[in-house]
Amino acid sequence: MERYNGLIDKYRDRLPAGAGTKIVSLNEGNTPLIELETLPRLIRKNVRIYGKFEGLNPTGSFKDRGMTMAVTKAVESGAKAIICASTGNTSAAAAAYAARAGIACFVLIPEGKIALGKLSQAMMHGSVVIQIRGNFDDGMRLVQEVARTTPVNIVNSINPYRLQGQKTIAFEVIEALPDAPDYHALPVGNAGNITAHWIGYSEAVCENTRACAFCAGKCSFHRAKIATRRPIMLGYQASGAAPILRGRPVENPETVATAIRIGNPVSWQQAVAAQQESGGWFGECTDGEILHVQKLLAQTEGVFCEPASAISLAGVLKDLELGKIGEGSTIVCTLTGHGLKDPDTAIAQSAKPLTVDAERAEIERVIRENLKT
Ligand SMILES: *Cc1c(COP(=O)(O)O)cnc(C)c1O
Repeated sequence: MERYNGLIDKYRDRLPAGAGTKIVSLNEGNTPLIELETLPRLIRKNVRIYGKFEGLNPTGSFKDRGMTMAVTKAVESGAKAIICASTGNTSAAAAAYAARAGIACFVLIPEGKIALGKLSQAMMHGSVVIQIRGNFDDGMRLVQEVARTTPVNIVNSINPYRLQGQKTIAFEVIEALPDAPDYHALPVGNAGNITAHWIGYSEAVCENTRACAFCAGKCSFHRAKIATRRPIMLGYQASGAAPILRGRPVENPETVATAIRIGNPVSWQQAVAAQQESGGWFGECTDGEILHVQKLLAQTEGVFCEPASAISLAGVLKDLELGKIGEGSTIVCTLTGHGLKDPDTAIAQSAKPLTVDAERAEIERVIRENLKT
C-alpha cells in the first residue's frame, strides 16, 4: 500500500493542483466512517447511520480539508500572510497550516465566544489572534475590507479553494460505502461545507461528457464517475442561529454550538441550491436537543464530537421520529469537529468526578454502586 500523504496528493487529478504545485499538508482527510451500532436499536428503526468523524483531522475539524488547498494556493501565488474571521475552527486550521508553510496568519475571533481548545490552537501555532468586540459576521465583513488595503490572503470559505478541498469528503464516503448514501446530514453555519459536499457528490456522478450543476461543463477536474447517484442533503441549523430557516439574516445569533453561531451565511444561495437540487431540506434543533445528542453519541457509541457536529445526528433522529426519513435508509452524518475542542461545554453537562479517600474499601463501594446490571 502506498503511504497516505493527504487529500491533495490523493485527489490531485480532481483538484486545482498541478504536477508542479508544492503541497502544504498535514496528512488531513482519510477520516473514518463509523457505523453507529447502538443508536438505531435504541430508537427501534431499521436504518444504517454512519458518522464521518472529521474530528480526527490534524487540527480536529473538517476545516483542514479546505485549509490545505487554500494555503497551498496562497503560497503558490506568492502570499506571505493569510487572514480569516472565525468561530474557532477555521482559525485553528489556518494557524496550523500557516505555521507549516512558514507564513504569517491573522485571525479575527468574537471576544469570549470561542471554545477553549480552538483558541489554544490559534495561540499555540503562533498566529496573531485579534479578538473583536463583535460577532463572526462582523469579523467576516472586516476581513473582506482589510484584504483590499493590506497584503493578506483570505482563507475563509469565500476563498473558492476551501470548497475544492472540502469536497473530497464526498469522494471518501463513496469509496467507503461504496456509493452515495440515501441521505447526507450536516450542520450549516456559513454554509460552505454543505456547498462543498454537493460539489463533491455532483462531480462523483459526472462522466465528463455531462455538465454538473456546479461546473457547467467548465471544470477540468472530473474523471470517470465513481458513484451512481447523489444523496438527499439535509442541513441543520441551531434554533438561535437559523437564518436559512427564517428566510432572513439573524442579527444576534446565539447557540451553544459556537461553530455554527452565524447569522448571515456567505454561501447561503449555494446551500439552498444544494438542498433543492437534491430534494432535501433544512431543519433546526434547540441547544437542549444538540447537547442531549452530543452526550448520547459519546455515551452510546464512544464518539465525542463538538456540539455543532452533534446537530447533524440530532436533526436526523428527529426526522426519523417524524417519519420524514424512511426505514431502510442509509444515512451519513458529518461529525464536523472533535469534542475536545470545547471542554467547558462537555464538563458542564457531565457527571462530576467523585472524590474519595485513597482506600480500597472506598473504591470498592463506588464500583458496586455504579456497576451496570
Ligand atoms: C465551520 C464548522 C461548521 C460549519 O460549517 P460551514 O461551512 O460554516 O457551514 C460546523 N461544525 C464545525 C465543527 C465547524 O468547525
